[in-house]
Amino acid sequence: MMSAEAILALDRKHVWHPYDSMTNPVPVNPVVRAEGCRITLADGTTLVDALSSWWCVCHGHNHPALTEAIRRQSEKFNQVMFAGFTHEPAVRLAELLSEAAPGDLDRVFFADSGSVAVECAAKMAVQYQLARGRRSRTRMATVRGGYHGDTAGAMALCDPEGMNRLFSGLLVQHFFAEKPTCRFDGVFAEEDFASIEELIRQREGEIAGFILEPIFQGANAMNFYHPEYLRKLRALCDRYDIVLVFDEVATGFGRLGKFFAAEFAGVAPDVMCVGKGLTGGSITLSAVLTTGRIADAISRGEEGRFMHGPTFMANPLACAAGVVSLELFKQYDWAGAVGRIESKFREGLAPLRNLPQVKDVRVLGAVAVVELESLPTYEEMQRMVRSTGVWLRPFGHWLYSMPPFVIQEEELSQVISAMRLVAEGSFRGK
Ligand code: PLP
Repeated sequence: MMSAEAILALDRKHVWHPYDSMTNPVPVNPVVRAEGCRITLADGTTLVDALSSWWCVCHGHNHPALTEAIRRQSEKFNQVMFAGFTHEPAVRLAELLSEAAPGDLDRVFFADSGSVAVECAAKMAVQYQLARGRRSRTRMATVRGGYHGDTAGAMALCDPEGMNRLFSGLLVQHFFAEKPTCRFDGVFAEEDFASIEELIRQREGEIAGFILEPIFQGANAMNFYHPEYLRKLRALCDRYDIVLVFDEVATGFGRLGKFFAAEFAGVAPDVMCVGKGLTGGSITLSAVLTTGRIADAISRGEEGRFMHGPTFMANPLACAAGVVSLELFKQYDWAGAVGRIESKFREGLAPLRNLPQVKDVRVLGAVAVVELESLPTYEEMQRMVRSTGVWLRPFGHWLYSMPPFVIQEEELSQVISAMRLVAEGSFRGK
């Protein structure tokens, strides 16, 4: 086994980390184990994972049932191309997903990451319109403040002023409406929807599909918005036969308190992207669900088939984990657990609203966001993480947490105390 020093030395020499510099990288922590809500470092320190390792580890790290599912499948076969073959894990997962999804989303295309799922969804929208003979409808519409991933096709759908703004020259230009501003629990104002109506009226002939993150705009906005927005958008897309795509990569699988965020609005999209929590965060996999209506139109179009096929599509290990993850949701009261996390976040973070440096505190389901005037430096955060034992990684103006649903009462108290320390600015690097 390598020592922590050896790992760090090789890491420093060869490995590029996400959103980081290779010459002056931020410090990284070598991990040796992870279980439940805790990540153990090489020096024996354990950290409570307040971020579910980027939204995905909903049932906790190293869930024995997920590990066992991957192990069992690996004894049979690890990978097989999905063109010309199929297998039990894929068909079972497709069935479970179809049962859980809103509306008639019962046709499933597997991909390998959230970004690729978004790319596939946009391609489905375009192929659908081509199949309907609408050759000019080749672009997507969306809202500002969105985040859909880091591949070029997905970046082109993200907020143009957001984290991928450097790459505007590389990207296809899509159409952007203003971002939703009505709060999830506030009063819906018709003006909030005016810019979408205007956009669609003007560009109807060029728009294949409309994509957005339902209810919660994540990495580029960290904001929960009103469900009426989605109901109005559903009606508008119906009127113009625009393919409505919900990107549920972050919100899916119970994160906001409903199994899918679409349920808050009581509407179903035509296409839905899922990823992250699909395998309980144990292994990468994503899926694009659509309806028979869209799938049939694409399949009867001039190409006669959907033109996408990733190498690791429907990877058997990942699908086996996905099946067990969806079964796990039926075996414990995840909604109750999310409800308890929500109440505790609300109660524990509410006092922060009175601080002058806190602009807002927002909580829905198992997601809490504290919007601050400014954040501590990365070095201060690292010291805070070490001193509180809570893994937080704020960015922009947001200090946020979305813990695994299995987080224990004391661990959640620890997360809330750590967030309060950062927000109060009372952390002094002890
Ligand atoms: N869509 C949303 C809403 C996301 O939050 C993310 C990732 O954070 C993605 C897509 C991209 O997923 P991935 O990182 O798996 O490519």
